[in-house]
Formats: sequence, C-alpha cells, structure tokens
Amino acid sequence: MKIKFVSPERTYLMIKDEIDAAYFEVMSKGDLINRAQLKSFEKNLAKFVGTKYAIGVNSGYDALHLSLRAAGIGPGDEVIVPAHTFVASCSAIVNVGATPILVDVTDDFNIDIAEVEKNITAKTKGIMPVHLSGIMADMPKIMELANKHNLTVVEDACQSLGSNVNGIGAGAWGLTGCFSFYPFKILGGYGDGGAITTNDKSVYDYAMRMRYNGEDRETGEYHGHGYTCLLDNLQAAFLDIKLKHLPKWIVQRKEIAEKYKKALSDLPDLMLPHYDKPGFDHIYQNYTLRSKQGDKFSDYLKQNGIEVLTQFRKPYYKHEALKLKDTGFPVTEILSREVCSLPMNVEITDAEIDYVVKIIRNFYGK
Ligand SMILES: *Cc1c(COP(=O)(O)O)cnc(C)c1O
Repeated sequence: MKIKFVSPERTYLMIKDEIDAAYFEVMSKGDLINRAQLKSFEKNLAKFVGTKYAIGVNSGYDALHLSLRAAGIGPGDEVIVPAHTFVASCSAIVNVGATPILVDVTDDFNIDIAEVEKNITAKTKGIMPVHLSGIMADMPKIMELANKHNLTVVEDACQSLGSNVNGIGAGAWGLTGCFSFYPFKILGGYGDGGAITTNDKSVYDYAMRMRYNGEDRETGEYHGHGYTCLLDNLQAAFLDIKLKHLPKWIVQRKEIAEKYKKALSDLPDLMLPHYDKPGFDHIYQNYTLRSKQGDKFSDYLKQNGIEVLTQFRKPYYKHEALKLKDTGFPVTEILSREVCSLPMNVEITDAEIDYVVKIIRNFYGK
C-alpha cells in the first residue's frame, strides 16, 4: 500500500462541483484581483475566527511580516519566539530588523511560559506564540504576561485555524492572528495564501494598504512603501468554499485521531498527541507523535509506503546561514529527534488508517 501524507486531488473530488462552479464564475467574469470572492472570504474567515477583520495576503509568512510592521516592531526590538517552529516565524522577525529571542517549548510542542517570562528584557517588544500542530499555546498566560509588560502579541496560528482555548479562537487573542493556506494546511488552497485576523482598525487599515503597495484603493493615496502581497481572488473563491466544509472536517479529524489513539496507546515507546489540558481544543492539523526510535521508526514507515513528516529533524537555529545562537533548548532537541507526523486528513480511508496502524505495530513487534 502507498499512503500519501495528504491527497488534495481526493479532496477536490469531494467538492468538485462547488470548486468547478467557482472557477467558471471567476474565469468567465475575469474577476482576478480584489473582487467579491476575496471580500466574501475575508468576511467569513473573520466570523469563523471571531475577529472584526480578516485581511487576505499571499502567505502565512506575509501575515507575520505585515503584523510585526503594523505593530511598529523593528531594529532594536526583541521578539520572543519558540525554538521549535517553522523557520518563517523567526524569519519574519529578522526581516523587520528586530532580534528574535528563541525560547524552548514544553511537551505539548508549544512555547514554555516560564522561559518567556525569564527572557523579557527592557528591549522586548513582542511575543510570537506559535500554535503548533493544531493545539494552541497557553494564551491566557501569554496575554497576562503581555499585558503586564506592555508587549504586542502576534499569534502564529498557521497550524491552528479552527482551534480555541476556553472557546476563544486561535487568531483572536493577540493584536493579530496569522494564517497560512499552503496546500498542506488544514484550510489549504491550490497554491500559496494567507491571512491576518485582528480586532484593531488601525492594523486593518495598515495591512489593507501595505498588501497593495501602500495604496488606499479608495483615495489613491500611498500611505507608505508597501508590498505586493494580496491573496488572489481565485484562491479566495476556493478557500471560501472549503471554509464552509471546515467545521465538519475538523470533527472528522478528531475521529481519526481517536482511531489512532485507540490502536496505538498501548505502545510504551510512543507518545501520542493527546494532552490532558482542559479548555484546550486540538484540531489535529498534524497528528504528530513521538517515537523513542526516531529515524528508525519514521524510516520504517516510509519503507512501507507511508508518507510521514518529520518536522523538524534539524531545528532552524542549527542552520548556519541563519546566524542564530543555539543557547540550549533541551525539549526542542528531544522533540526534533523523535517527532513523526502520521497521515492526517479527511481524504484518508479506514483501510489506510488500519494499514498505518498495522505497520506501526509491526515495527514494535506487536
Ligand atoms: C506554514 C507555516 C508558516 C508559513 O506559512 P506560509 O504560508 O508557507 O508562508 C509559518 N508558521 C508556521 C507554524 C507554519 O506552519
């Protein structure tokens, strides 16, 4: 058997009529840039996340980058970011001229609050919690710290659209929430895409202009040297359709996670991503488990036709060209050796899940 990590071609077949209709509508009208489809998607996304505004941009990276700029973060400022995340979180901080302060994570893969507190200095301007894999960082504590020290919070919610803590959605806590619609993400487009969510009118105005070369489209006035990073109208049309299906898809993901849990929780060398954290919802953007056997485990799955992700075997701060200091992140070190994300998507069949389980149990001689 060959099992893909995700199969966008299968999801397409599930919603083909709707996607095709949206395509014909956009193509036949020539509505390519900033039209009704983008506005509709932004309205629906804001509602889904629970914020006043959503602004469609080119990518999750652009969402992070514009958010930091909107907060006025730049040279001389420090921003605290987890050591265990996708490199884009850190690159956005570096690219606005600020200094990233890396801190370790805890067993749920998210930023360690005690470490955040220890690393706050007079130069700290912001915190960028990352909600990794589909479960959120401890936002009540992060907001408490941020308010106490007058810091800006930019949520990297690229992996947690639809998740919440105590009923408040990922992307609705900080000054902004940043989302990615990269095809592998829970709301994946057919190419790159991203969005910023916010309740702040001035951030909204700033992002709306800067994504469009600084221009206020109503007055024609340039409000600064901006960027070209508007979400494509065609992508927005597709994403708007998929967003309607997302609540149901999240339920399906949770069901798949339960199947994995039931079939694998007796294996002592595996640590499954089921955390006992009341109030914290897990939407399983990724089903990332830890295996004590690390590469031996993930290689065995790959050899048996199962596509898995092992992000991030080499932490980003260990890449020389990034010129970051490795000040010692013990949890990140262990995680990076042990992580393995199993196929987790709504396209997967029961027979495929059974096969993944069988191969894992074989590996452990069970
Ligand atoms: C995917 C991702 C990003 C970047 O998103 P792009 O759309 O690829 O730019 C940033 N942070 C995290 C945690 C991500 O998973």
